[in-house]
Amino acid sequence: MSGGVHRIPVAISSCLLGERVRFDGGHKLDPDINTHLAALLEFRPCCPEVAIGLGIPRPPIRLVRTDGRLRALGVSDPALDVTDRLAAYGDRVACELDDVCGYIFKARSPSCGMAGVRTWDRQGRPGRSDGVGVYADAIMRAHPGLPVEEEDRLHDPALRENFIERVFTRHHWQQLRAQGITPARLVQFHTRHKLSVMTHNQAAYRRLGQLVAGAGRKGFHALCDRYEQELMQAMQRLATRKSHTNTLQHLQGYFSRQLSADDRAEMSGLIDDYRRGLVPLAAPLTLIRHHFRHHPNDWALQQTYLEPYPRELLNP
Ligand code: SF4
Repeated sequence: MSGGVHRIPVAISSCLLGERVRFDGGHKLDPDINTHLAALLEFRPCCPEVAIGLGIPRPPIRLVRTDGRLRALGVSDPALDVTDRLAAYGDRVACELDDVCGYIFKARSPSCGMAGVRTWDRQGRPGRSDGVGVYADAIMRAHPGLPVEEEDRLHDPALRENFIERVFTRHHWQQLRAQGITPARLVQFHTRHKLSVMTHNQAAYRRLGQLVAGAGRKGFHALCDRYEQELMQAMQRLATRKSHTNTLQHLQGYFSRQLSADDRAEMSGLIDDYRRGLVPLAAPLTLIRHHFRHHPNDWALQQTYLEPYPRELLNP
């Protein structure tokens, strides 16, 4: 626990936490991850190369394209092939990730890279940067809905915010599962997440609505699995300034008529400033929350959109 906030379990490549597990005995400490994110996330570190017994230090490996497939081979000794061991270890870890709400992978690693890993041909010539780390690939295949990111991408504010929002959405879903999902609770969950999902993906929101409408019928557990998959996919799409503007204007409609002309103009002006990129999303959202304190609306106040995750994470 940190500051009374329950920390959410997220798996991570060990070297990003400063653990000296790299092939050369070094680490890849990421200061941002270790300060701001560490305050709210409970990290579960894992170094697959150490876990399969390669030791520290160890000969470096890379992704080599052989017969159309990528293999993780030793750089100086291509006879060292650890592909199957890394993949099998990934399958094993994947079975233990049910309570985890996300995974932060080390970029460009032949084991942990999530995408865009440099590949090589058998003659040792560099090829396309389109590989996926062998271990990461096994994890992502086993958990297609798991929020995953790489440390490099988390430095981009939009990607970072999207990842954190997905982690918290998965956390809410797991809380619901732990409570026991009933059709009524699913409807309640769907209602609370309505504006968040709509802001990310209108079409997916409609599909989720159709699923929820069938919640009273047979096959409820299968329906919940589909809902979870569709929900996490929907949240993966980055919300745009335009879609946020629509949602902010929608929320404004709940109290607009109760405001003075000046307050109304201030609210509209701030939303417009956000639309034009002059202020961050937090600015109109803070004013909206302020107005809801004076003009409460039960439906709007239950929306996760108003506070998708603890505010400490808004301004790293
Ligand atoms: S990138 Fe993955 S395999 Fe490489 S040192 Fe970091 S945790 Fe270990």
